[in-house]
Amino acid sequence: MKIIMLGAPGAGKGTQAKQIAAKYEIPHISTGDIFRANIKEGTELGKKAKAFMDKGELVPDELTCDLVVDRISKPDAAKGYVLDGFPRTIPQAEALTGIRDLIVTGVQTCALPIYENIVHRMGGRRACIGCGATYHVEFNAPKVEDVCDTCGGELVLRDDDKPETVQKRLSVYHAQTQPLIDYYKKANVLVEVDGTQDINVVFQDIVKILGA
Ligand code: ADP
Ligand code: AMP
Repeated sequence: MKIIMLGAPGAGKGTQAKQIAAKYEIPHISTGDIFRANIKEGTELGKKAKAFMDKGELVPDELTCDLVVDRISKPDAAKGYVLDGFPRTIPQAEALTGIRDLIVTGVQTCALPIYENIVHRMGGRRACIGCGATYHVEFNAPKVEDVCDTCGGELVLRDDDKPETVQKRLSVYHAQTQPLIDYYKKANVLVEVDGTQDINVVFQDIVKILGA
């Protein structure tokens, strides 16, 4: 089961990917999480990635593709994986399909919520600085305000979720990532899910597609 979550920033990719990973026992691989972990550890990759992320731009393909190809070659990904935030460009998609045995067999796309909806989702998103879990102050609130249910870590607003950066990320999405919808449609592997519904309803729709 090899799944790609495709959708605008804030569409709900990470929220659904975590649930898919838990139910189907496959790793959840988020390039955004990998970059944020590198930033936290102060690695060279983290320093390079941060400069792009802070501006709402994409990290260059040269820094991104090998990272994912290496990650999905690990033993825990042998029976599948759910990719969240990758591919985001046509060359990234080509890096996936160019490799034998790494052919995408299923693609999910969460239908785009309208712009105001996305800004509202991202403005209310809170991420745990300990384990990376994500919440929403209104739609998926933690039990205790600003405290992670899972690890007790502090919940913060991501720097790139501030309205001015969200605007930039959306325009980057339209220019560079949206063309992947046609790319995967042509490959007959695209399945669309309406991401504007309640989180649990979106997940039920995904399970109907992937099988119980
Ligand atoms: P992405 O990974 O696509 O950028 P997330 O999964 O992090 O998006 O979701 C963005 C924010 O919106 C989070 O705060 C999340 O809790 C919330 N969210 C996700 N899916 C829904 C939904 N179906 N309805 C309402 N809020 C949602
Ligand atoms: P995300 O956590 O998926 O919202 O990603 C946060 C940021 O990380 C993006 O705005 C990009 O700057 C960077 N990023 C994540 N995944 C990729 C990717 N596949 N290609 C390029 N940049 C990425």
